[in-house]
Amino acid sequence: MSDGRALAREFLEQQRLLGGDPVILPDGPTPGSRPGKGQPLPPAGLSYDPPSGDLFSNDPVRQAPSLATIAQLVAACTKCRLCEGRRHTVPGEGPGDARLVVVGEGPGRVEDETGRPFVGPAGELLTKILAAIDLPRERVFICNVVKCRPPENRQPQYDEIAACVPYLFRQIELLKPQVILAMGGTAAQTVLNTKQSLGALRNQIHRFRGIPVIVTYHPAALLRNPHWKKPTWDDVRIARRLIA
Ligand code: SF4
Repeated sequence: MSDGRALAREFLEQQRLLGGDPVILPDGPTPGSRPGKGQPLPPAGLSYDPPSGDLFSNDPVRQAPSLATIAQLVAACTKCRLCEGRRHTVPGEGPGDARLVVVGEGPGRVEDETGRPFVGPAGELLTKILAAIDLPRERVFICNVVKCRPPENRQPQYDEIAACVPYLFRQIELLKPQVILAMGGTAAQTVLNTKQSLGALRNQIHRFRGIPVIVTYHPAALLRNPHWKKPTWDDVRIARRLIA
């Protein structure tokens, strides 16, 4: 398979995982190429027969059998530029039977130093928030959209998120939580595959592959703006009520 076709397949698969419309990419001419002279034009509508089998059956992330395997894959990952400055990867942590998955944006300085998610000041606040809804941190799976620290704590860029998000999606697939709590705009937009603002996404119950998703502020934002504590508390209580 040509590099171009491999990249196209990878892109289309990522779009599919992000919730886009299904696209059927056949074995055949390179996408965008025109039929040569004498070749029959494909019929309108569905242009080709769907390919047989799972095109991505060899993808180690999609096939990862456990959270530990994903952590190993993350530890060796060099799929995006964030691998260059990291000290530790931060795959996420928590029990395999967690009913709640908390998703943040990316590791910060302390997380990068320790390899653990949400352990800096924002993490301490998250731990308190979880305790307040009677969910000890140890019973929650906590992770981020990107598993390596962006330099200077900048927002992860689109291509970095696209490279890393299969790990998050496979983690959620394995965990099958009852609720996902997306904290901050990056987490919410990534999980929900939308460009809508965090403000527009709050106060609703969304779905990710059937799992309820609640959107709220990132704890780091609460440290900067205490006025958001009350709405965050409201959101977190909704998430708590959704957990059986
Ligand atoms: Fe790999 Fe994700 Fe780290 Fe990028 S951020 S190197 S995709 S683990």
